[in-house]
Amino acid sequence: MGKIAFEKTVREARLLSPLLGFKQAVHPIEFRKDPLTDRWCRINIERAKRVKQAKARGTADLTEIVEESRRKCFFCPENLERTTPKFPSYFPAGRMKVGSACLFPNLFPFGEFHAVGIFSGEHYLSLDQFSPKLIEDCFRVCLDYFKFIYNKRPDIKYCMINWNYLPPAAASIIHPHVQILADHKPTLQVKKLIERSREYHDRTGGNYWSDLVAVERENGVRWIGETGSVAWLASFAPQGNREVLAVSSRKVSTAIRMDESDLKDFCDGLSKILGGYHEIGVGSFNMSVFSGPNDQDLSEYYLLNAKLISRPNFEPLYTGDDGFMEKFHYEPVIEIMPEDLAGKLREHF
Ligand SMILES: [Zn+2]
Repeated sequence: MGKIAFEKTVREARLLSPLLGFKQAVHPIEFRKDPLTDRWCRINIERAKRVKQAKARGTADLTEIVEESRRKCFFCPENLERTTPKFPSYFPAGRMKVGSACLFPNLFPFGEFHAVGIFSGEHYLSLDQFSPKLIEDCFRVCLDYFKFIYNKRPDIKYCMINWNYLPPAAASIIHPHVQILADHKPTLQVKKLIERSREYHDRTGGNYWSDLVAVERENGVRWIGETGSVAWLASFAPQGNREVLAVSSRKVSTAIRMDESDLKDFCDGLSKILGGYHEIGVGSFNMSVFSGPNDQDLSEYYLLNAKLISRPNFEPLYTGDDGFMEKFHYEPVIEIMPEDLAGKLREHF
């Protein structure tokens, strides 16, 4: 504790604003640096007020899109057996199932082991409808998949659970589903998180993740809550709007080493966050779980963690939130203060 630096600097942009009869407007821009990765973001909450010309009048068409997509949906129960791929014969089953969840290969994979997990037969769910049990069934079948692959192929040791919810978050199918990958190599971000955590440990003797949880719990301003062994916080320097960080306080560095209670705690918290997102008007999001390699216990310096960010709402026309700053400069522009987000989501814990 006390070894984590929350570095920020505030600059002011001045302009004569037509919104103020051409009087001077002052916009404070907060530059914040992620304490682990050194990645910067810049926050100007005034930007949330800007006019988005693409915005359609009303969102009535959404029901139509949902209904139309339901009629031809590959993942709905009446079509699933006919229209989704099956695992090859060396798998225990063509499709893996736990409770209402069903897992099968991605029809258009970008990894050697790339599967899709659907939560249930429900074609559309709003964020307040993802119960802990619904999420747990799906994540359990994902872990079963990872364990099966790793058992057969010990070289495939990097596991990812990812969730794009609705088209603004890059989901091509509306029916709720996660995408999971078991890979031979880590992504650049996972590699960086692990390396930086190791450096932090070498430098301070501490574990960045448990230090972060301790210091944020004490600070309180970005603290959202706890579900058993999992802590939930708003990131100090978010890489997307409304970024929530989940950290396992138990000594576990890989997804496949989660035990029953870790899984329950995570799904319980995730359900609360989604309920909170729903209440503050978020309908679309991305989520990723950042898991260390299966063959090493890195928990001395790296703990299993996950992030969520909100995306534009699912409307016929909307303005994207992934522009030149995010795509090329890796310095995202954020519209919401993490401390305000934490205050709103805390009520759900
Ligand atoms: Zn469907």
